[in-house]
Amino acid sequence: MESLLGNAEVRHRLWRAADDGRMHHCYLFEGPEGVGKAMTAMRLALMVNCLADERPCGICASCRLFLAGTHPDLVVVHPDPDRATRVITAEQARGIISALQLQRHSARRRFVIIDPVDALTEEAANALLKTFEEPPAGTQFILVTARAASLLPTVRSRSQRVRFGPVPRAELEDWLVGRGLDPSLATLSAGSPGYALRLADGEAEERREVVAQLLATVGQPLHQLFAFTEAAGKKSDGSVERTTLVVDALEELLRDTVVVASGRDESALHQAHLGALAVWASALHPGGVGRLEKAVAAARDRLRLNVNGRVVLEALLTTLNLELSQARRG
Ligand SMILES: [Zn+2]
Repeated sequence: MESLLGNAEVRHRLWRAADDGRMHHCYLFEGPEGVGKAMTAMRLALMVNCLADERPCGICASCRLFLAGTHPDLVVVHPDPDRATRVITAEQARGIISALQLQRHSARRRFVIIDPVDALTEEAANALLKTFEEPPAGTQFILVTARAASLLPTVRSRSQRVRFGPVPRAELEDWLVGRGLDPSLATLSAGSPGYALRLADGEAEERREVVAQLLATVGQPLHQLFAFTEAAGKKSDGSVERTTLVVDALEELLRDTVVVASGRDESALHQAHLGALAVWASALHPGGVGRLEKAVAAARDRLRLNVNGRVVLEALLTTLNLELSQARRG
C-alpha cells in the first residue's frame, strides 16, 4: 500500500505496539488538522486485522471491507450531518455503546474511531467515559483531535496521547510535485497535506484575499471594521466557512508575528506582508500574541456552538484593534 506522509516515528511505535499485542485500548491522536491522524487510525485497523503475511496488504477480504468502511467491526463516528452545529450527540454515543454490546464479527480487533472527538457534547462524552476506560475485550478506541486543549479532562485522562506533527517540508514538497501541484503549498499549509490539497483546490487565493482584507481593516475606525465582519458573516450560505477563514487568517498572522519577532522573516507564511508583520511583532509580541491566541481559541469554540459568525468576528477584531492601539499608546 502507498506509504503515509510524515510522522514515521509515531507510526513505527504504534505498529510495534500492535505487533507486540500491547496497544493501549484508547488512543488519543492529537496534532494539526490534515496531517494524517485519521488515515493512520485506519491504517492501524487494516494492519491489525489484515489476513496476509505482509500487513496491511490492502486486498484481502478484511482490508477490502475496512477500506470500504463496511467492515462490521469498524465503527467510525463523525458529527451528525443533520445538525447545524458540528457535534457528536448523546444519541450517537449511545449508538456506539449498543454496537459494542454485539459480539465481534470476524475482526481480530474491533476499531471505534471518533473523529473529531472534540465534537462530543458533554453529555455524549460522559455517556462514553466508562466505555473509554474499560471497552469490551478486543475493542480498540481511537479518538482524533486537532484541539486537545478543548477536551474534557475526563476524556483525556482515559486515553493515551499520541502526538502527530506537521509533515517535514521536503517530504511534502516531493509529494506535491508528484501530484503536479505547486511545492510552495508545503509552506503555506504549514506541513499539512490535507490542507495543502484544499489550498490547491482554490482556497489559497481566497485566503490570501482574506489576509489582505484583514490587514487593511485593522486599525480602521470601528464602522469599517463592522462593515468587514458583516460582509464576512454574510457571504452566501457558506457564511460560517467565510467566518472561519477570517479566524484562520488571524491565527496565521499571529504565527507569522512570532516568527518575525524572532528574526526569521524568511520562514513567515505571508511574505507579501512582512512590513505589517514587523509592526505587529513590535506591538504584540509576546503578551498581546498570547492574549489574541486565547481570543482565537474562544472564537472557534463559539463558532462551533453556532454563535452568529458576525458577532464572533466583531468581538475578535475589536480585541485585536484594542491590543494594537494600546501598544501604540504605551
Ligand atoms: Zn489485508
